[in-house]
Amino acid sequence: MESTPPPDDCSVKVAVHIRPLIGDERIQGCQDCVTVVTGKPQVQIGSHSFTFDHVYGSSGSPSTEMYEECAAPLVDGLFQGYNATVLAYGQTGSGKTYTMGTGCGDSSQTGIIPQVMNALFTKIETLKQQIEFQIHVSFIEIHKEEVQDLLDPCTVNKSDTNNTGHVGKVAHVPGKPPIQIRETSNGVITLAGSTEVSVSTLKEMAACLDQGSVSRATGSTNMNNQSSRSHAIFTITVEQMRKINTDSPENGAYNGSLKEEYLCAKLHLVDLAGSERAKRTGSDGLRFKEGVHINKGLLALGNVISALGDEKKRKDGAHVPYRDSKLTRLLQDSLGGNSRTVMIACISPADINAEETLNTLKYANRAR
Ligand code: ADP
Ligand code: MG
Repeated sequence: MESTPPPDDCSVKVAVHIRPLIGDERIQGCQDCVTVVTGKPQVQIGSHSFTFDHVYGSSGSPSTEMYEECAAPLVDGLFQGYNATVLAYGQTGSGKTYTMGTGCGDSSQTGIIPQVMNALFTKIETLKQQIEFQIHVSFIEIHKEEVQDLLDPCTVNKSDTNNTGHVGKVAHVPGKPPIQIRETSNGVITLAGSTEVSVSTLKEMAACLDQGSVSRATGSTNMNNQSSRSHAIFTITVEQMRKINTDSPENGAYNGSLKEEYLCAKLHLVDLAGSERAKRTGSDGLRFKEGVHINKGLLALGNVISALGDEKKRKDGAHVPYRDSKLTRLLQDSLGGNSRTVMIACISPADINAEETLNTLKYANRAR
């Protein structure tokens, strides 16, 4: 199938999602310190003001609006063969997991991923007469620059002392080679050694999301708050095989010659590690400096997205530092180029979080 360039130049779009004040913050008597400028995708905090592609306020914008504006175009692009990435960025507790729908509660129905899955299968239903589909999912976590498989069928949670049989986070199985990120000769990034589940229904895909989410939240290697320091990546790969009749009507009779066309694209849905340790450098704001415990992936991601967003640099073929972390390496073929990227910066409106909120808005602003 012909790959036409995406209709609009939208290499990186940035949205802000402001959650409401939550229980703890209310109990502490926190005040709301983030203002949304009416009718504009603009947020103000203190004397700072930032404009983004979209702002979803704490007044409870319906989650369908965020899906339609941020993710639906990427799902459509999948069917045209374009890779895409949705990233949720923000400090721990800002609503990343809630926004993506990678949690294990009822809020997971309104998240981006459940809505992506719904739309995907609704669309497949309308096309499956003409097109043969193969859908795969993987769900991995990157922690301390190591890739862990959240869908490994052979791993049972070691902390499962009650023998409930629930699958837990994948502790490293002795003898099992570590998962490796590889690049094929035509630039396709693959994950060697991770579980790829073939799914044919919404229910099967939802089961993978649930299994991985539970695994992430409850696993035995989940020391303290590993999940806040790791990136969780749910990847949907869509392969399409279409048979096209190559007879042209001008030739008169059809002789039934068929050409097969193949398209493959993937969508990464990323619940990033908490950003609280990613501090910016001083006045130039061009590079993130590595702090004591800074997350390598967030650091590299900021630099990659900033390089991609800088149109002049991109046209000059400037170096995009994908190789600086596992996260950016894995996302390499789905960030930049013909692929679409949406970053959703998640923030708390509470005054006690003002400093981290400002950091998040600056990081997100740099991505534009
Ligand atoms: P993170 O993944 O960034 O650490 P969570 O998604 O776990 O943050 O959110 C922290 C808390 O805030 C959770 O209790 C979650 O249910 C709640 N929360 C987050 N976003 C919203 C929202 N938009 N509306 C209501 N509650 C939210
Ligand atoms: Mg989370």
